[in-house]
Amino acid sequence: MSTPNKINYNNEMKKLIEANSKFSVKPTLLLHACCAPCASICMDRVRDYFDTTVFFYNPNITSALEFDKRKAELARLIDIYNEDKDRGLLNLIVSNYNPDEFMSIARGYEDCPERGKRCMLCYELRLRHTYDYATAHNFDYFATTLTLSPLKDAEALNRIGLNMAQSPATDLNPPTKHTAYLPTDFKKDNGYPESIRLSKEYDLYRQNYCGCVYSK
Ligand code: SF4
Repeated sequence: MSTPNKINYNNEMKKLIEANSKFSVKPTLLLHACCAPCASICMDRVRDYFDTTVFFYNPNITSALEFDKRKAELARLIDIYNEDKDRGLLNLIVSNYNPDEFMSIARGYEDCPERGKRCMLCYELRLRHTYDYATAHNFDYFATTLTLSPLKDAEALNRIGLNMAQSPATDLNPPTKHTAYLPTDFKKDNGYPESIRLSKEYDLYRQNYCGCVYSK
């Protein structure tokens, strides 16, 4: 039996960018970000083509201290990027830290390895919240920086995002306008090594675990 061809989500993103280039106004994008090192190359790749708002929603992070550290580093990097006024200005929205939101979905899956069931639920939680915010605020697209990490399942992330965009938001009023999912695979085109290079260039705090206590 032949295996289906894998979708190259990086190419899908490029096709969408090309299709949108005929419009004089940039589409809006809500880009979920997990931390500054991952966001570094992702923001660099989208900011010329999308009016980008970075969305820091990460209830999976181990502690309020670590949450604040990652949030502050992301804000610092955005300020640095925004010094280049010829490129798109980036906005930042921070969602409150509420670890119970993560702990309730992780219960029973504490021992799962990375890329296992707990991670799928964690992807779903963070993308759902991003999607809900995006639809409530009329963003044209939503996406996540999570596809950058070689430890993440980009295929699963893209499938979750694409499926989500076809269903209404769960805990907000029905969207007034359709928000589409922007397919990505930011690790392509040397995305991951580029993120390491940018992290060094801007002296970014790089944590050595994904985020939750189980990954630590
Ligand atoms: S390892 Fe990372 S993606 Fe998986 S559950 Fe923990 S924080 Fe979420």
